Amino acid sequence: SNERAYNFSAGPSMLPISVIEDAAANLANYKGCGESVMEMSHRSAEFKAILEDAEKNLRDILSIPDNYKVMFIQGGGTLQFAMVPMNLLRKSGKADYIVTGTWAKKAAKEAEKFGDIKIVASSEESTFSYIPKVKREDFRADADYVHITYNNTIYGTHYPYIPDTGDIPLVADMSSCILSEEIDVSRFGLIYAGVQKNIAPSGIAIAIMREDLIGFAKETVPTYLDYKIHADNDSTYNTPNCFAIYIAGEVFKYIKEMGGVAQMHKRNVEKAAKLYDFIDSSSLYKCPVAKEDRSLMNVVFVTGDAELDKKFVAEAKKNNMHNLNGHRSIGGMRASIYNAMPAEGVDALIEFMKKFQEENK
Ligand code: PMP
Repeated sequence: SNERAYNFSAGPSMLPISVIEDAAANLANYKGCGESVMEMSHRSAEFKAILEDAEKNLRDILSIPDNYKVMFIQGGGTLQFAMVPMNLLRKSGKADYIVTGTWAKKAAKEAEKFGDIKIVASSEESTFSYIPKVKREDFRADADYVHITYNNTIYGTHYPYIPDTGDIPLVADMSSCILSEEIDVSRFGLIYAGVQKNIAPSGIAIAIMREDLIGFAKETVPTYLDYKIHADNDSTYNTPNCFAIYIAGEVFKYIKEMGGVAQMHKRNVEKAAKLYDFIDSSSLYKCPVAKEDRSLMNVVFVTGDAELDKKFVAEAKKNNMHNLNGHRSIGGMRASIYNAMPAEGVDALIEFMKKFQEENK
């Protein structure tokens, strides 16, 4: 087919079509410099400008305070699960984790290799269908940091609040919600996110880290896994993923032109509300997630019949709506509707859901 599908994948996922087309037009010969971004030296003036612009635009759209470093690091979200404890277990060797899904659990498990990790709250007993309410007293006073997963990609939940950790630095995995909403960066010690959902092709993570927390990795920590190396070398200690950084920069510009993160949030609220309202009022579909904790990015639903769910996903695909299957660990359906999913995509999905409901009474 010559037509682009509505791609509801949880990641890698849709990018703004204007960014893709502009990148295509510049693919072989970037802005007339005679080279493509895939081929140019990461030390060239052209790439230096791409990197600096990307960081500047990200700082602008997220209002990142000056005392935070921005780093582009390879290894995706998963490598951050290890880098966080390797760098931030710096005094007591203790860290507290809130487990709200598979990725949160994996982050905690990885950290256990490096220190004394306590799970202070978990919603696993209810299949991660809600976000636990955690108070300041729940954390160990001497914990080196607290880790949360702000948006849970697989279970479709999002924190409705930022936990109060007092003086303990709060670390947040924002892989599946970064740039979908405004955030007060100063509430966090470290924010990290794999880029393949709201920002760029896969291959990097972005880390936004308070400066005073950088530089505590033990000597045995491999060079590449020390945040200080990335901070001191402006993300070019070694050869970075130049192409992903370039696309990330183009997406930051796109968001700026669209009216910024606040505008993205407004659009996301509208898209998600439409879909949740339809699900809640339908006779066939159900969303298992507590209303106040629902994600704007990953909308999870089921029919209650695993065979019918499979049929739904297959028929949707025939109707040019791709990747509506839930994560392979839980099944059901999941519509990931990141920034780049147009409102028309959500409308088309709702129309299809109505038709499928009629045909499968
Ligand atoms: N954290 C979250 C919230 C995720 O959704 C994912 C992947 N979907 C990861 C971490 C792992 O990221 P990566 O595949 O980039 O290692």
